[in-house]
Amino acid sequence: MVPEVYLFSDLSRLKYGVNKFFRIIAKDFRKTKVGIKIHFGEKGNDTHINPELLKDVKKFFPAVFVECNALYRGSRTVKKDHMAVAKEHGFGFLDIDILDGDIGDEFVEVPVNLKNIKKAKLGKGITKYNNLIAMSHFKGHIATGFGGALKNVGMGLGSRAGKLDMHSTVRIAVDSNKCTGCMTCEKNCPANAIKVINKKAEIDSNVCIGCARCIAVCPNRAVNMDWSGENTNRLMEKIAEYALAATKGRNWWYINFLTNITLDCDCASIKQKPLMKDVGILLSKDPVAIDQASVDLLKERNKGKDPFIEKGRIDGSQILKYAESIGLGKMDYELIKID
Ligand code: SF4
Ligand code: SF4
Repeated sequence: MVPEVYLFSDLSRLKYGVNKFFRIIAKDFRKTKVGIKIHFGEKGNDTHINPELLKDVKKFFPAVFVECNALYRGSRTVKKDHMAVAKEHGFGFLDIDILDGDIGDEFVEVPVNLKNIKKAKLGKGITKYNNLIAMSHFKGHIATGFGGALKNVGMGLGSRAGKLDMHSTVRIAVDSNKCTGCMTCEKNCPANAIKVINKKAEIDSNVCIGCARCIAVCPNRAVNMDWSGENTNRLMEKIAEYALAATKGRNWWYINFLTNITLDCDCASIKQKPLMKDVGILLSKDPVAIDQASVDLLKERNKGKDPFIEKGRIDGSQILKYAESIGLGKMDYELIKID
């Protein structure tokens, strides 16, 4: 059966659209407690999902925001700070459950026995939830081309050890001919892995966690990931394998917000200008179908071109193909417009 993806695109009534989605989901979840996996946005980011759109959720089912701590140094590295930034960004109207504990070290191992990951290390608290919604802001991503439902669930529900597991294949290098020693990367590196010595940046690969932030901030494009295919593809495969671990045996719905579509993710503690006009919101039971539909809608609104590739990001479609190959969902879908 081809998965259904619902599109609500009346931008003046997005809250009404979200409530329509909640009504559909409520029929399935039947008043049981729901974990909403969301990204609250790094401190300084203001293009994350707008919490005002979600405020009626309790009229439909009891819900809790669930999330894991970030891998890198920032405002979401430990639970106390993470909760504070979530509230500062307007998400305090529901309880918040940080699934990997105070410092991100609490995990449960879920066997998947796939090509890259044998046991996924998910935030331990996931075991409390059988009914979940992934609410994902669809936007570009420096390491995976784009980030949507698959990345929100796969990378997002990894504990710190799990996130390290996924990032371990990422290799970063500095082109010393282009580096001017401006120190922007050193100041922004969340792992203190970069030192500028004799006006050239040097990366300690034993300390680097592969977050790719230095690539995004370098004004001279002197930092690069090894784009040779192997590393980026393996990162995407691992994210899909983690997503499979998080979803198997649980009842999930996925909502993608094609709003404030930025080039980089909500982990960046900077204000970003959207690349294009908002498109709307999508709902599906299939994480592959909803991400594929999101890519297709963005292309449709951008003269047939992927807006992230056009701006220099890698082609993220590998994650969709791989996720389909391991049974996470389907790339084919039926788009149903609702109003
Ligand atoms: S941000 Fe770029 S140019 Fe500046 S020190 Fe780092 S690598 Fe060199
Ligand atoms: S990828 Fe760059 S910014 Fe991230 S930890 Fe490694 S050196 Fe630091």
